[in-house]
Amino acid sequence: MSIGGQNEHSYDVAIIGAGIMGASTALFLARGGMSCALIDRRGVCSEASGVNAGTLTMQMTRAALIPYALKAWEMWGQPETWLGSDPGVTLCDGLSLAFSDPEIEILEQRAQARRQYGADIEVISPKRAKQIEPGLSDHPLAAAYCKTDGHVTANRTGLAFRAALKQENVHLFENMQVDAVAQIAGGFSVVSKLQPINARRVVLAGGVWLEEMLGWLGVKVPIKTLINQLAITERMPPAMCTVIGIANGLLSLKQFANGTVLIGGGWQGEGDRETRHTELVPENLIGNAQLACHAIPALMHTRLVRAWSGFEAETEDAMPIVGEVPGVEDAFVIGSAHSGYTSGPYMGKILAQRILGQTPEMSLFDPQRLVVNT
Ligand SMILES: Cc1cc2nc3c(=O)[nH]c(=O)nc-3n(C[C@H](O)[C@H](O)[C@H](O)COP(=O)(O)OP(=O)(O)OC[C@H]3O[C@@H](n4cnc5c(N)ncnc54)[C@H](O)[C@@H]3O)c2cc1C
Repeated sequence: MSIGGQNEHSYDVAIIGAGIMGASTALFLARGGMSCALIDRRGVCSEASGVNAGTLTMQMTRAALIPYALKAWEMWGQPETWLGSDPGVTLCDGLSLAFSDPEIEILEQRAQARRQYGADIEVISPKRAKQIEPGLSDHPLAAAYCKTDGHVTANRTGLAFRAALKQENVHLFENMQVDAVAQIAGGFSVVSKLQPINARRVVLAGGVWLEEMLGWLGVKVPIKTLINQLAITERMPPAMCTVIGIANGLLSLKQFANGTVLIGGGWQGEGDRETRHTELVPENLIGNAQLACHAIPALMHTRLVRAWSGFEAETEDAMPIVGEVPGVEDAFVIGSAHSGYTSGPYMGKILAQRILGQTPEMSLFDPQRLVVNT
């Protein structure tokens, strides 16, 4: 499908992959005056960007990425100003729990590292944690507290972006599998079974499929795949008002306005990015749910109604890949950010600044460091 009435397929930029990274890049490029084609084999925010836990936390973000996540958190706090509508943003307090002395140590180290980068995180007593979150059990021995937290309803992200992209006349090609990108005189040709799309520049924004996309341009960058499971409860009376995590990272909990509670924390499922097939691992679902009940006892009285999983990408050094494709002029790549849903809009904004010939507000993440010579 294409939005808008343009028949000739030649653009300033073709962005391949309409997750939060590609869609944000397209949005800011279009606002900067470039004509954009945004192409996805599914729909806008249908993969990781539409099925993730939507946590906007500093607690689990890598310390060096905190300045980016803080900028993004500010953007999420006022979605109407850049996205045009609110996909269900709640800003609230966040607590990361410790159930043992070694976990208290981890919380203190993590808090200190993140404070250095601007995140206001302090380790507090269980009594104070319970004042902030009355739904907590008596098990935590301490908690790391951060006011800069919150969540978004991830499965509403695509609708919000689609409306914003349409508003900016981004031409959206959904259900269009790209098979290759060929370099042609004056730019690139995006190759698919449908019509070719030509553009002066190309942005690869393929999530876990970035490795394949970079391969189209002869660049080898290994991308690891995580298969994260999530589960959601039926609607239940108010049980919690914060975002809850734990020191080892294996729990993320939040209750939405409709009463449902989303349970996650990176428990792994099984799957294969080539076939795009995933399977839930029931034992991991049970372990995740037990941990959730250990933190918020009211969850023992509710039922899970649905569970699913999605593909998350990670680079070799677990830092994002955002910048020029090495050795290929006018080709760019964006993805693999830890807490990538949180920081996605800001990453897209600064890559767009670079492509528009401006100096990005913050440094990009040079892909060259990840290239493997074959
Ligand atoms: C279950 C889960 C929970 C998570 N929880 C959180 C969280 O709470 N907070 C947080 O900040 N982050 C979270 N993340 C991470 C976050 O979701 C991702 O970092 C982010 O969404 C990645 O965005 P992306 O645009 O790079 O990739 P994606 O959203 O995966 O988008 C890539 C797009 O490329 C398209 N594509 C790929 N190949 C082709 C092709 N050949 N032709 C056309 N299109 C193609 C795909 O269809 C897809 O739409 C979670 C991830 C998962 C999976």
